[in-house]
Amino acid sequence: MTIPFIDLKAQQSIMRNEIDQAIGKVLDDGQYIQGQALRDFEQELSVFVGGSYSLGASSGTDALLIPLMAWGIGSGDAVFVPSFTYTATAEAILLAHASPVFVDVDPETFNIDVSDLKEKILETRAEGKLTPKVILSVDLFGLPVDYANIADAAREEDLYFLSDAAQGFGGSINGKRVGGLADVTSTSFFPAKPLGCYGDGGAVFTKDEDLLEIMRSVRTHGQGKHKYDISRIGLNARLDTIQAAILSVKLKYFEKELAARDRLAKEYTVSLSGAVNTPVVPEGYFSSWAQYTLQLEDNQRDAFQTHMKEKGIPTMVYYPTPMHIQPPYAPHGKGPRSLPVSEDLCTRVVSIPMHPYMSNKHRDTIINSCLDFFDKQ
Ligand SMILES: *Cc1c(COP(=O)(O)O)cnc(C)c1O
Repeated sequence: MTIPFIDLKAQQSIMRNEIDQAIGKVLDDGQYIQGQALRDFEQELSVFVGGSYSLGASSGTDALLIPLMAWGIGSGDAVFVPSFTYTATAEAILLAHASPVFVDVDPETFNIDVSDLKEKILETRAEGKLTPKVILSVDLFGLPVDYANIADAAREEDLYFLSDAAQGFGGSINGKRVGGLADVTSTSFFPAKPLGCYGDGGAVFTKDEDLLEIMRSVRTHGQGKHKYDISRIGLNARLDTIQAAILSVKLKYFEKELAARDRLAKEYTVSLSGAVNTPVVPEGYFSSWAQYTLQLEDNQRDAFQTHMKEKGIPTMVYYPTPMHIQPPYAPHGKGPRSLPVSEDLCTRVVSIPMHPYMSNKHRDTIINSCLDFFDKQ
């Protein structure tokens, strides 16, 4: 028996007819770029996140680059970013020709440590080499960041607040959905994300109508009033009409899927919390559970992964190396031991299967296999 890490096939079999129809309609319409299905999906996204404007984008990475370019972020500008994240978060900063300033994370939530963030902003101002411009936080593994305190810090320091919710789309704090809690929120519809399409895709959200229009322009080659009126340097970063049509179908099932993810996470936590460090969800927070990630003891991880593999259970390490010591980013970082929490977590975290279509049988096998391992420790 092999248990899938995520089960996109089970999801597809439920929605396949509707998706076939939605794709068929795009083929009938023939507007593959910026077609009606894209405009419809953007409307639906805006409703889902609670009223922000939405723009589809070609990927989560481009969805980060679009606001940075729209704000005119570039050479000499500092963007404060956690090091414990996927490469794309930091990559977008360098693609915009700005400089990442890496910040440590909280050992329990895995999200940006707001007190370290404030220190890094002060340090950067004191050094005087870079101009602080943007806080770029990440809802790691689906858990929303401390939006209120980060927004306060951004306001006090006169910085933009960009949220990378590639993993956190669907999350909320006290009922307020991610997408309306930062100046701009970016997400990804890569197939394995909580809401995924059948290719690459992403979106940006903002409540600022003027910024929306600049981002719309950046999304299509810096276009001005018409196609051959060019206002700025932009990108080709549109979401395909076909992907938007697929996402419209999937979005209808998304709330139910989020509830199923949350149920599974709670069952994991109830069963495993006595045996191992399980994920922390602060009061009032709702995680989209992009990953369910355990914190093991030092030097336990290889044995744990081998044990699970023998039982037919895949596990994954997100992420084995923090960004500030990866070669392309190292010149911007302060080297090993500069961000102790991020570096420590990278040696101890491991994610177990998480998806909304898990059978009770698979769930129990996973829980029992974990307990079996930790009981022997
Ligand atoms: C997946 C991911 C991205 C990038 O999304 P793509 O659609 O693959 O470009 C950015 N940030 C984080 C945290 C991600 O997990």
